[in-house]
Amino acid sequence: MSFLDLIFPKKCINCRRFGDFICSDCFSRIKFNDNFQCPVCFRPSVNGLTHPVCKARYSLDGVISVVAYSPVTKRMIQQFKYKPYVSKLKDTIGEIMIEGLLQNESFYSFIEKYTPALIPVPLSMKKFRSRGYNHAELLASYVAKYFHLVISNKLLVRVKDTRPQYKLGKKERFENIRGAFNIRESAGRRTEIPKSVIIIDDIATSFATLHEAAKVLKRAGTKKVLGITFAKEL
Ligand SMILES: [Zn+2]
Ligand SMILES: [Zn+2]
Repeated sequence: MSFLDLIFPKKCINCRRFGDFICSDCFSRIKFNDNFQCPVCFRPSVNGLTHPVCKARYSLDGVISVVAYSPVTKRMIQQFKYKPYVSKLKDTIGEIMIEGLLQNESFYSFIEKYTPALIPVPLSMKKFRSRGYNHAELLASYVAKYFHLVISNKLLVRVKDTRPQYKLGKKERFENIRGAFNIRESAGRRTEIPKSVIIIDDIATSFATLHEAAKVLKRAGTKKVLGITFAKEL
């Protein structure tokens, strides 16, 4: 038994049963997402790709959310965000993320064709300091390692501390996130902008955050932007 097990005895994050971070019953209830949506019109789309007719100049080229949203996945994300010491949970989320991406042909062809840079959605400095880590970056580290992608976590910066998106309606989410990101100015040098990017976050709701990040990157010169998230909130 490790020191951490004494302080934080293992309990299922969903049903509170003692023994493991997720008991096998609750784990079996996690389902991969098979209900992909176009991130622009929200109608069904193949593998989460943006419909050709929905594409605009700075829009996302697609969003792949790996698991279906449920009380179990919701709790997993909450724990992952605020209790990083739950390292086994972190690994489980990382493994599910990889498995889901392996099953998605559009993800595979995107990385084969474009060799994108992986960009975790940045936190504001204030939030980063209070939490001590960025959970999207943690998630990115699993994906980067498995698929041999390079993480670019210095390019996109959060310049505005926004209100939590989950408290807002759909329209307000877009208002709230507008102007939140910027491209970091490197002193005296032109910043190197990757031609294609995968933006990664824990959860997608209205896709507002991913849309805003894609817009900033495409305005700066990126041609292709795919979003990937662990879950998609309904
Ligand atoms: Zn359980
Ligand atoms: Zn569409």
